[in-house]
Amino acid sequence: MAERPELSVVLPAYNEAAALPQAIERLRQVLTPLTDRFELIVVDDGSSDATYHLVRTAHAADGRVKGVRLARNFGKEAALQAGLAAATGQAVATLDADLQHPPELLAAMLHHWRNGAKVVHGVKRRRGAESRWMGLAARLFYRSFHRLTGLDLRSSSDLKLLDREIVDLLLQQLPERSRFYRGLVFWVGLNDVTVEFDVQPRVGGVTHWQLGALVGYASRAITAFSSLPLQLVPLLGALMLLVALVLGLEAFVSRLSGAAVSGFATLEITVLFTGSLVMIGLGIIGQYLARIYEEVKMRPHYVVREQLGWGDHKHDQRPLEPADAP
Ligand code: UDP
Ligand code: MG
Repeated sequence: MAERPELSVVLPAYNEAAALPQAIERLRQVLTPLTDRFELIVVDDGSSDATYHLVRTAHAADGRVKGVRLARNFGKEAALQAGLAAATGQAVATLDADLQHPPELLAAMLHHWRNGAKVVHGVKRRRGAESRWMGLAARLFYRSFHRLTGLDLRSSSDLKLLDREIVDLLLQQLPERSRFYRGLVFWVGLNDVTVEFDVQPRVGGVTHWQLGALVGYASRAITAFSSLPLQLVPLLGALMLLVALVLGLEAFVSRLSGAAVSGFATLEITVLFTGSLVMIGLGIIGQYLARIYEEVKMRPHYVVREQLGWGDHKHDQRPLEPADAP
């Protein structure tokens, strides 16, 4: 293969056939005057539509468009990881394939990198069209995340440009399974710059986020970065003990003073209250247990089915045929 590209652009794509041709075209137009050595890596995250077919077509027309096809849908975090691992550029940018991250921003980002920035964060000036509840939930999440971890990710996004040094660091030194790309890049904390952008409307296709998935994402992000919720459990326990002592004392005193032991409501409320606190506590512990379980299994983050565009490199794997499956 020729020398290393200066810039690799990674596009995670899951069922993005409606947006991909336009995205690839726009990126090629933006990138061509910026650098004469770039590669555009589309990571097909197990799409069931024509996404990978479109990558093949684009690759045939322009060898700088490359493809990584994951064996199934592993989720955006894994797709990003696969893209970072496949990228050979001295700088690597990550962008959404639905053009919600304006490609034109790459000019400014590349400029910052050429001037020595190790990380360029795309920061949302406007969050784009989303429901009121969604905005509220996002704000709540980022506020708790900040409180719990000390990392302020407000208005951050997965639009980033990373120096090779950071990419290698993410790939080699941060091997954890449950990944939160934004958080990890912030955590590294090296020499960073931000560029602002307005979230664009999606071109074609639909968002892949449903409420349940978002709640899971938020919970993963928090448990991956903070153990404070765990410390909350004994705190709640102590609080309950205090309540129990007060109530017990009250019961004792009223027993001594001869008042009949009524207070069924108090009893009921106390039992239910304690019960729910115990359940919440167990739930929190369960979340961490699940994370530990995932880590100790040491499974790979994703499985590559085939790759397109790296010649005979180690990257190129024989396509996995159904007959090969164990
Ligand atoms: N994506 C992915 N795997 C998934 C879900 C999403 O690679 O399982 C990609 C998707 O194709 C898009 C990006 O991640 O390029 C952001 O997804 P989406 O637009 O659905 O999220 P939103 O912009 O609504 O937050
Ligand atoms: Mg999107």
